[in-house]
Amino acid sequence: MTIAAISPGSTIGILGGGQLGRMTALAAAELGYSCAILTPEADAPASQVSALTIVADYADEAALAKFAGAVDVVTLEFENVPVEAVQFLESLGKPVRPGSRILAVAQDRVAEKDFVRKLGGGTAPYEAVDTLKALIPALERMGRPAVLKTRRMGYDGRGQRILKHRDNPVEAWDAIGGKPAILEGFVNFNREISVIVARGADGTTRSYVPVENRHRDHILAETIVPAPISRHLADQAEALAARIAHALELVGLIAVEMFVTDDGRILVNELAPRPHNSGHWTIDACLVSQFEQLVRAVCGLPLGSPERHADATMINLLGADAYRWADFLKEPNARVHLYGKNEVRAGRKMGHVTRLTARGDRR
Ligand code: AMP
Repeated sequence: MTIAAISPGSTIGILGGGQLGRMTALAAAELGYSCAILTPEADAPASQVSALTIVADYADEAALAKFAGAVDVVTLEFENVPVEAVQFLESLGKPVRPGSRILAVAQDRVAEKDFVRKLGGGTAPYEAVDTLKALIPALERMGRPAVLKTRRMGYDGRGQRILKHRDNPVEAWDAIGGKPAILEGFVNFNREISVIVARGADGTTRSYVPVENRHRDHILAETIVPAPISRHLADQAEALAARIAHALELVGLIAVEMFVTDDGRILVNELAPRPHNSGHWTIDACLVSQFEQLVRAVCGLPLGSPERHADATMINLLGADAYRWADFLKEPNARVHLYGKNEVRAGRKMGHVTRLTARGDRR
């Protein structure tokens, strides 16, 4: 499929108003686009740098119609936007990239893993568990430790519980809210990596180098660029991410989160069809950042080079970390990004710092 280019001067609509939308809007501005945001939240980080914001629920069709009337193309910064909202925008003839079909896969952990398996990719062992009654025999089949996660709306470790040997499955079921779930075998991973790949309207893909992600309390704390893995594994991870992007007929970006096991296997954990926290370093270390790449893809422009000119470590400023902004500003090789959130809450992503080092010889 080729699509007509949406030229600079046009308006990009973004569903969601968080920091991912903010950094997308900043990249869009650099190419001469303006952005309109639809978000349920007033004074959202993306609104602060965008020409127009409609504060409304995603189910509000009048607001969606107004939004559609104000923009030339729609993208999203939050993959849990209701599929119906995206279908409604599509029914108005507004291109949404990535579209509702991709969202439907990425919002459901079972659909996501089914999809990856069908493509020949590896995942943790898993089973859909719709009721508490189904959990007990599924846990016997899976063995312990296992991980119980809600099928939908889980992020940053919310809606999941590990079931170790003595843990009570009834408590775990209640703790995740008693919702349809997925039970996964516990992966003894060696490290967690991710690959961000952009796919343009003409089917071209461009991938950023695989990075390692270190979490604290289930929230991304640090991204190491490049991931310290073999060339062979890195190639495999990039090839798998590109295969996923093609199979989804994606126009936009997708982040593929993966586990690397001790015996050198790559298992896909999650797909996020949007800019990703593990790609923030690309703003400072690459010719074209993930955010500009998204703008280029959804507007039908040629994709840019994802080549990096430096190695990097990105650290998230979570909660009170943000108060240390002045210290980070003093570091000669660091860049500080703050998201304009005025309420500091524990674990809340307030900003990030990218520390650059000379590019080593790994890829
Ligand atoms: P998720 O919400 O699926 O991204 O999971 C959040 C984090 O929990 C991951 O980044 C892993 O560190 C851990 N995790 C998730 N699923 C598993 C699993 N099946 N085995 C081991 N650790 C897991």
